[in-house]
Amino acid sequence: MTKRATRTSTLYCLALCLLPQAVWADTLKVAASFSIIGDFVRRIADDDVEVNVIAPIGSDVHRWELTPPNVLALEDTDIVFYNGYDLEPWLRHVRAVIHDDTPLVALAERAHFAPIPVPTGEYEGQPDPHMWMDPQGAAAYLDVIADTLAEHDPDKAELYHRRAEEARDVLADLDRAIKERLDGIPYTNRTLITSEAGFGYFARAYEFEHTGIWGMNQETWGTARAMARMSERLSEQRPPALFYESTVAEIHMDALARETGLPLAGPLYLDTLSARDGPAFNYPALLRYNADLLHQALGGARSE
Ligand SMILES: [Zn+2]
Repeated sequence: MTKRATRTSTLYCLALCLLPQAVWADTLKVAASFSIIGDFVRRIADDDVEVNVIAPIGSDVHRWELTPPNVLALEDTDIVFYNGYDLEPWLRHVRAVIHDDTPLVALAERAHFAPIPVPTGEYEGQPDPHMWMDPQGAAAYLDVIADTLAEHDPDKAELYHRRAEEARDVLADLDRAIKERLDGIPYTNRTLITSEAGFGYFARAYEFEHTGIWGMNQETWGTARAMARMSERLSEQRPPALFYESTVAEIHMDALARETGLPLAGPLYLDTLSARDGPAFNYPALLRYNADLLHQALGGARSE
């Protein structure tokens, strides 16, 4: 072996020997595509991982565009958690920014939970991305998050899996509490009409009939045809109330409410948490708040 080759291999060895310490010394940095996934990741990661949320609270996750701070944070990210099933059409921009070997983890697509189809609009028949709206779907996300973090940070694997177990228990209690809260709504009143038809999983779990003016948010919003179809349906069906969501301008639902004389209630939270001092500051609060609003607007109070 030449002197130069010896020196090169010594340097190579030094680099290899030092690299693991450098990697372990760093806290894992992960990105979450929007606030609800951020909440799930923080539940498993606690302070052991740095979590950066891409589409901030209150924004529309379907139509987000990366900002310069997003890009800066993503360049330095070890894992990206996102929902999948076309919830984030802007993910291709994330792919262009992150390192080639940074894993992108689509929680809904990897979760052991049966998808349901989008009921209407351009995406009709494709898997509905809003799987988190059923606490059992949310629990399936937590398992994927814990497995992924454990794989990339094996020293803390046990911790991540233990937190996932604890969070599953919290979600099972939450599921029972929501069922109990909604029990007061007569079955004849369980019609959930929203702007975006994103409550399919919630409706399946809690026995509501559900539809929206449009199927997924990035489609053409409230076309005249979609509005006319909904107006006709409402005139026939006369549900107790109509609902709008926190990330959607209420003009469409407001127009339908005025036209049909039906009461308008909201906002329901679907695609984002609220600010910390708001009613949907974390995932359990979001579901509880929605259940209270539905209970109030759909005549649940009458049975108390
Ligand atoms: Zn949505």
